[in-house]
Amino acid sequence: MRVLVTGGAGFIGSAVIRQLIRDTAAVVVNLDKITYAANPQALEETATNPRYHEVRCDICDRARLAGVFEEHRPDAVIHLAAESHVDRSIDGPAEFVQTNIVGTFALLETARAWQTGRRRSGFRFLHVSTDEVFGSLAPGRSPFAETAPYAPNSPYSATKAAADHLVRAWGETYGLPVLITNCSNNYGPWQFPEKLIPVMVISALEGGPLPVYGTGENIRDWLHVEDHAAALRLVLERGRPGARYNIGGDAERSNIAVVREICAAMDARFPGRSPHARQIRFVADRPGHDLRYAIDAATIRRELGWRPERSFEEGLAATVDWYLAHADWWRTIRATRCPGARRGLAAV
Ligand code: NAD
Repeated sequence: MRVLVTGGAGFIGSAVIRQLIRDTAAVVVNLDKITYAANPQALEETATNPRYHEVRCDICDRARLAGVFEEHRPDAVIHLAAESHVDRSIDGPAEFVQTNIVGTFALLETARAWQTGRRRSGFRFLHVSTDEVFGSLAPGRSPFAETAPYAPNSPYSATKAAADHLVRAWGETYGLPVLITNCSNNYGPWQFPEKLIPVMVISALEGGPLPVYGTGENIRDWLHVEDHAAALRLVLERGRPGARYNIGGDAERSNIAVVREICAAMDARFPGRSPHARQIRFVADRPGHDLRYAIDAATIRRELGWRPERSFEEGLAATVDWYLAHADWWRTIRATRCPGARRGLAAV
């Protein structure tokens, strides 16, 4: 099988590629524009494998995409390329509209031409989306099932929702064998150090403030990135074309609970500097900040037998250790690609 992964140098894409190379016989083509968010180091273990290929390409560039499909002849696409940071989408939504909507359209058109032109049987297009398209879930309400109505609240989630609708329409109208997954918040190694968990581990280590938005009561449903990658492989191999699968870790935690758990992990590792929780500072909330996301993953569990391998506690402890062991990587990025200034307040 030849699998084309878009956004393969990103946080989740690189986990998918590491698994595909390590655990399957697939040939993998990583198509990535290499934006500020890309982590080529996360693919060092696959770089010399003869089944691994890299193509630097923007998914909005249709002429280039057609050439890549002709050259690499994919049997399947896993589409992860996106602008992915909500705070950045508030300050600069144009890039999100371009990559997440126009780029998905360009990729769908390329895949359609590739698939129908040669009548490829078995071709699959897996679009990777987020639970944020469903909007904010009231406390006490049941987690989002695949049938939950769309109600995106941020420029990021609105562009992901638009992309989901395009993918669905290309399946219904043109018969492209599409699959859509909507996953909850991921965490784990190689996550860009502007996202919640890396920011907290790094700030705790450096003795700086731990900035918690609002009151910290916002709830997210956490899933380790390796468990997400395993779910995506399963959906690609055994999912029903035209179906959608919600993916989540059954691990709802408020942001403040996650931060306190990180502080406790740091206290255990650096008792001389405890309690790290005294570094917590409550800062201005994100505009339009969704209160709660939670995913009902019953369909993928029942149909495909998927379940996460790690509990949130195990995964978080391992992630804290990973960031402590990879300071060279995140220090370089923080010095060059994500200066500490607060983002996402442009709407205020
Ligand atoms: P990321 O920001 O870490 O990586 C995105 C990758 O896409 C980068 O390597 C970047 O260079 C590439 N890219 C961006 N624009 C591109 C373009 N125009 N052409 C080609 N490549 C481009 O993102 P991530 O956290 O790995 O998320 C991957 C996908 O999973 C996204 O579609 C996101 O919406 C979705 N998702 C993420 C989460 C999460 O918690 N991180 C949860 C659910 C779904």
